[in-house]
Amino acid sequence: MAVMIETRNLTYTYPAPEGETNPPALRDVSVQIEKGSFTVVLGHNGSGKSTFAKHLNAVLLPCGGAVYVDGMDTRDEKLLLEIRRRTGMVFQNPDNQIVANVVEEDVAFGPENLGVPTEEIRRRVDDALAAVGMEKFAHHAPHLLSGGQKQRIAIARVFLKNPPILILDEATSALDNESEILVGQSLEKLAHGRTTL
Ligand code: ADP
Ligand code: MG
Repeated sequence: MAVMIETRNLTYTYPAPEGETNPPALRDVSVQIEKGSFTVVLGHNGSGKSTFAKHLNAVLLPCGGAVYVDGMDTRDEKLLLEIRRRTGMVFQNPDNQIVANVVEEDVAFGPENLGVPTEEIRRRVDDALAAVGMEKFAHHAPHLLSGGQKQRIAIARVFLKNPPILILDEATSALDNESEILVGQSLEKLAHGRTTL
């Protein structure tokens, strides 16, 4: 199996105010994650899960060691766009993930959708909304939705982008059980290489 993500002795320390030093948030983390696999990172609050996730799409860069995304070193600036194209990330807080005034526009938002024919976008948006059980809300205003519904919209957006690497940082913690199961089933379909959900 191909390795999609590899970290080698990844170490990261957040910058501290003058005269202070933070302990490393990540120290010597070495992992290999295979294509097509689901990998779950478990740990108590503050153990470094979000810090780790942010290294996988080059939001954070290693202080020591290295991160390779599909063989690409995240420290190489020239590769940044290519790395971002390959990754989709959903965060825990849905409020800072909304970008448009109408749900369906929000889901379709993304530079990778420029140039895709309108009908194709329409189909993909419908598919992505159905995958998270939000098809009835296509014409609603995202900021009027509940936290869990907003989160489902953020998840629909990465479904539509359909990147080879999905990074979910506690993305379902705002969802009720039923929605969580629905999202889990959709993820499974994506991981098994279905182009439609
Ligand atoms: P988790 O996601 O597992 O709860 P985090 O990756 O958010 O853990 O945090 C790991 C450590 O890094 C914690 O000690 C946290 O306080 C610290 N940390 C996280 N974000 C920042 C930041 N922006 N600046 C300084 N320290 C941070
Ligand atoms: Mg976290």
